[in-house]
Amino acid sequence: MYGDLLKGLPTDLWIGGSWRPASDQARFDVLDPATEKAVASVASASESDAAAALDAAAASFADWAARKPRERAEVLRKAFELMTRDAERLARIITVENGKPLADSRAEVAYAAEFFRWYAEEAVRNIGNVSRAPSSGARIVVHHKPAGIAVLVTPWNFPAAMATRKIGPALAAGCPVVLKPASETPLTMLALMPLLEAAGVPPGVVNVLPSRRSGPVVGRMLKDPRTRVVSFTGSTEVGRMLLTQAAANILKPAMELGGNAPFIVFEDADIEAAVAGAMVAKMRNMGEACTAANRFYVHEAVRAQFAARLTEEMATLKAGHGLDEGVTLGPLVNKDGRDKVVELVVDAVRRGARVLTGGKAPQGTGFFYPATVIDNVPDDALMMREEIFGPVAAIQSFTDEADVIAKANGTEYGLVAYVYTRDLARGLRISEQLDFGMVGLNRGLVSDPAAPFGGMKQSGLGREGAHDGLMEFLETQYISAEW
Ligand code: NAP
Ligand code: MG
Repeated sequence: MYGDLLKGLPTDLWIGGSWRPASDQARFDVLDPATEKAVASVASASESDAAAALDAAAASFADWAARKPRERAEVLRKAFELMTRDAERLARIITVENGKPLADSRAEVAYAAEFFRWYAEEAVRNIGNVSRAPSSGARIVVHHKPAGIAVLVTPWNFPAAMATRKIGPALAAGCPVVLKPASETPLTMLALMPLLEAAGVPPGVVNVLPSRRSGPVVGRMLKDPRTRVVSFTGSTEVGRMLLTQAAANILKPAMELGGNAPFIVFEDADIEAAVAGAMVAKMRNMGEACTAANRFYVHEAVRAQFAARLTEEMATLKAGHGLDEGVTLGPLVNKDGRDKVVELVVDAVRRGARVLTGGKAPQGTGFFYPATVIDNVPDDALMMREEIFGPVAAIQSFTDEADVIAKANGTEYGLVAYVYTRDLARGLRISEQLDFGMVGLNRGLVSDPAAPFGGMKQSGLGREGAHDGLMEFLETQYISAEW
């Protein structure tokens, strides 16, 4: 099934531009979630490996920071080209370790590579300013310096994009990084390292530490005085812990955390467009996305029509191994993820919700769950409050605009909301009232390297992508000058 894909795939730690096993030789298995079989055994970094990675990053910093912006830009541009050249191989690796269908993996690789292209373009736009102090008349010279070594911690749901969204801007800013990929999916980043090396990234500027001991390994780096930035994507729970550690060392934090996205369909919406958008917002990555539509609020006047059409579309998805042609629904990433979806659906049904399609995990191998639509989901169902992280669309109807806005905002999360209406003025007015960092207005997909991605409330701090993402890796310095 895998052909030559896994042959020669790097499985050690990438530190200072070379491969090495863990200091204590520890390793762990990476599984294919469709077969539940191990596909690789990967080195599991220790705290002393973490210290070694920081040594390598520190040794590379001065030279990398001093490179001309154009030079760093060219390296990033080359990284974009090599990633694009090897897109198919990288996509297949993502599918093997994460489970998502190849079409999703190809889209992810294209998206991930775009962060290198975008930050190649941003690397030459680190622009400061000069003004005169109103009272003293002194010059206020403002410029931006690389913040220092950045520790990057990424989740398993987008093994390539969540990492390049951090590596791109860090390298553009002049910062070396140590990346700790998720244990479920370390292979993609390891496979990327030879490409970054070929693109001209010097030894030590990017280091990768897979580890089953993420707590101690990341903790070791966050307390090191040489670390200046921590950029994390993952659960709110772990983000909160890392923020506490960052506080002790006064690190610059960037946190992309959980979500609980509402998807609001008004009575004047183009229902076909809303269904198409819902399929993307819900089913990209089998629902395993922080941006996944979690709660569908559909106006009572169009509820039946929307639910029927969404059910039809969901029922056409074909489950199977993501590498197989025609498969559009892969397995969830692991047993815990699947068990959680089972639990949420059982809970909703117990509270009176009605299953329109799916709703029952299949027997057999692989962490599969069918595409599911559930109508009449009451407010007290757990799936209205927690991230489902699976292929389940929970529908509830509404009649009043103010009510639906209050419900949409009634969550501690604030990452993304989706709104469908043909009335653009209404759409913009409602978007402004939604306490979410991003709004998809008649769009089921907001992610774009050129746009500031990030959440409000407990969905995070800071923004990735756009120019904002570059600023997360820069410190502002002001020089008060006379000339
Ligand atoms: P997670 O459990 O928080 O793990 C994320 C990363 O943190 C992994 O690399 C993990 O390593 C590491 N980690 C776990 N415990 C740690 C600790 N005590 N100290 C340091 N690092 C630790 O999240 P996940 O289950 O992988 O991913 C799902 C979550 O990510 C969801 O909540 C989703 O919404 C969120 N997410 C957010 C965004 C966004 O941009 N806002 C994007 C994608 C995903 P191990 O794998 O070794 O445990
Ligand atoms: Mg995890």
